[in-house]
Amino acid sequence: MLPRDALEAANPYNSPMAVLVQKYGGTSVEGPERIRAVAGRVAAARAAGNDVLVVVSAMGQTTDELLRLAHEVSANPNRRELDMLLTTGERVTMALLAMALGDLGVPAISFTGSQSGILTDAGHGAARIIDVRPERLRKELEQGKVVIVAGFQGVNPVTREITTLGRGGSDTTAAALAAAFGRARCEIYTDVAGVFSADPRAVPAARVIPRLDYRVCSTLAHLGGRVLHARCVDLAARERVPLVVRSSFDESPGTEIGEFEMEGPRVEAVAHRGDCSIAIAEGSAGGRSQARGLIEAVADAFPEIELVAHEQADDANPALVWTGSREDVEALQQEFRALRGSDGKWALRVEHGAAYVSVVGLGLGAREAARAEEALERAGVALIALRVSPTALVFRVPNERVADAARALHAGLVE
Ligand code: ADP
Ligand code: ASP
Ligand code: MG
Repeated sequence: MLPRDALEAANPYNSPMAVLVQKYGGTSVEGPERIRAVAGRVAAARAAGNDVLVVVSAMGQTTDELLRLAHEVSANPNRRELDMLLTTGERVTMALLAMALGDLGVPAISFTGSQSGILTDAGHGAARIIDVRPERLRKELEQGKVVIVAGFQGVNPVTREITTLGRGGSDTTAAALAAAFGRARCEIYTDVAGVFSADPRAVPAARVIPRLDYRVCSTLAHLGGRVLHARCVDLAARERVPLVVRSSFDESPGTEIGEFEMEGPRVEAVAHRGDCSIAIAEGSAGGRSQARGLIEAVADAFPEIELVAHEQADDANPALVWTGSREDVEALQQEFRALRGSDGKWALRVEHGAAYVSVVGLGLGAREAARAEEALERAGVALIALRVSPTALVFRVPNERVADAARALHAGLVE
């Protein structure tokens, strides 16, 4: 390691130490061989002079398996206990990685989210980070250890309950820690070579985007490009954390995400997501304030469900449209009576099997929308609905054609 003075001089933000945050996702730590390979990468980063802070996900499909188990045991698993269960996945990986590093002669210590001082609100299953108090991590780093943190979890300081950040949330843990250590570089290691111009598993012509603006990357993540947790990108943008997405299996440079100036309309990528559910609330009487009340109540109870439209031709007949996972929308349906309150009449309609394909970029408008519609038409994909904003054109398409639609838009607007 470099002497501390040299590290401080090299750190433009004057943080007391130059920390490198590396996050390894589920596929990258699937099984003992891969954990040993990750240990090798971490050891190399430390040998190159970094104080390394590693965030790990649960191994392979562990989180899915734990969820399945919970639903086999209980029809409606208690949310607190579900978080107790799901957080164990990341704890397994962190301890194994510490052991593997020990075998390489690298001193390492692992911590849960709670031990790491990751403080969240009380929302089980989709908690938000409210503060990071990394004193304990700092002490261990100062002693020359590699510090390993379990991703996707924290603790509520008031209730002292363990929380999870929502599926894919380990990326957000990594960005939050990088911010807490003075805008440390945050490397997200995954099973593809970076952020692609579309999901490479569905669109073979997709290519790695070498540099991507925070805003575009955030839109991509929100619209289904699951390579990064959307909240990770938003946190990194707000705190100016430099993000890099790379493969954990090779040395290719990956994608750098930061603040990059771009002029003129520009299409960067295509995102898609299928198997979504839609909830439509139609109301009468009560007016605008009541629709607002309902919007807030749903946002508080289901932070992962997204409000996509609020149409109100007249005060008396508002219509609200949300989209989310089937699980969340079914839960909303169950709790809707309690959420809508006693005044006003709301009827909730739910549709399953919705799919969206989106063109993502900056300065988009009618011209890009026309080209996109043409590309979908040529591919024979029916268009059910369209939303236009300067950063995204979002098309609702039939669920079974969503991958075809992604390929058609990629061919028509990106290639
Ligand atoms: P990890 O377990 O490392 O967090 P994820 O499965 O969450 O990995 O994210 C990586 C996956 O995201 C890739 O395997 C890829 O199929 C998918 N993906 C979707 N859209 C994109 C995109 N635009 N660029 C790269 N990968 C994408
Ligand atoms: N293990 C969690 C999940 O599968 C968190 C993560 O991997 O980021 O969602
Ligand atoms: Mg992920």
